[in-house]
Amino acid sequence: MARFRCFLFLATLWCLFGVYHAGGGGGGGEADPLYKDCVDQCEKTGCVGDRCFQHCKFSSDGKPIDGPWYMHEPLYLRWKQWDCRTDCHYHCMQAREEERMKLGDKPVKYHGKWPFRRIYGIQEPVAVALSALNLAMQFHGWVSFFILVYYKLPLRPDKKTYYEYTGLWHIYGILSMNSWFWSAIFHSRDVELTEKLDYSSAVALLGFSLLLSILRTFNVRDGTARFMVAAPLIAFVTTHVLYLNFYKLDYDLHLKVCLTIAVSHLLVWAIWAGISNHPARWKLWFLVLGGGLSMLLEIYDFPPYMGYVDSHALWHATSIPVTYLWWSFIRDDAEFRTSSLHKKLEEWGLKYWGLFIDLLKGE
Ligand SMILES: [Zn+2]
Repeated sequence: MARFRCFLFLATLWCLFGVYHAGGGGGGGEADPLYKDCVDQCEKTGCVGDRCFQHCKFSSDGKPIDGPWYMHEPLYLRWKQWDCRTDCHYHCMQAREEERMKLGDKPVKYHGKWPFRRIYGIQEPVAVALSALNLAMQFHGWVSFFILVYYKLPLRPDKKTYYEYTGLWHIYGILSMNSWFWSAIFHSRDVELTEKLDYSSAVALLGFSLLLSILRTFNVRDGTARFMVAAPLIAFVTTHVLYLNFYKLDYDLHLKVCLTIAVSHLLVWAIWAGISNHPARWKLWFLVLGGGLSMLLEIYDFPPYMGYVDSHALWHATSIPVTYLWWSFIRDDAEFRTSSLHKKLEEWGLKYWGLFIDLLKGE
């Protein structure tokens, strides 16, 4: 076991090392002169090869040629120009990639993103489907936890649960579902707003997961103590979210922040699983291992296979079983804590009841 733990620790360190050297990934395809020419031509003519797009029909003074008056509004015009640009980027990228493939070249990133093929206008259909599945899994896990703690396990006389982390896991469930929702939106339409929402919800979820892991493993039950642990973490995550939203949407920095939090989170659980004698600690081992492996997919990103499945989509796929196991561990933990607290209370009750009887007997 000790050797396994050592291996895990080294693997995590190696992950972290990899993170700080990831990113960049060579020159982007957007610098390719053939691609640049194609985009310039497309924005003028609205065509790539013999394919022309509705969004790019402008007259010489920049006004759209067709459409009713309300479509002549400046806001709509800007939208249309913007749509024209994304269409041009997409079709030039596809045309360029086809030519490159014929020459036996490997795919390159354009504007920091791999060349994906759209389905019904959805930019990364596989990632969207997997995000939706993850959302469904989170919902299922959260509902099963809810039913367990409120309907299957005994409640306190004030109708609260014996399990002291119920509220925190509820917040975790809500943050997870929020994060998968925005992930699905972002992968279907990648614009600045959806990107910001996806990154912000992801880092909020990760920050909260780390906080929860510290509170649970150190058994912090007092409100003030919980706040003392939460304050610096909340401050850090808020700063990062503000930086991304109002200063610079820096993906590399975001990835480093996310992976640092994720690695710390897994380390906390791993160390605890090693020293505690929790009955479900073996699940934590699998979670740490699964989490570590899925992180590798996020670090060493490879281009989409057939234009659809890239490493990020696979990372979304691995998080489905991981989510299932997480909620299973959470349910086990709720059951374990509740039964031990309940037993303790019953023992106390019996002890005092015994003393009371003894008193009555006058002994
Ligand atoms: Zn994603």
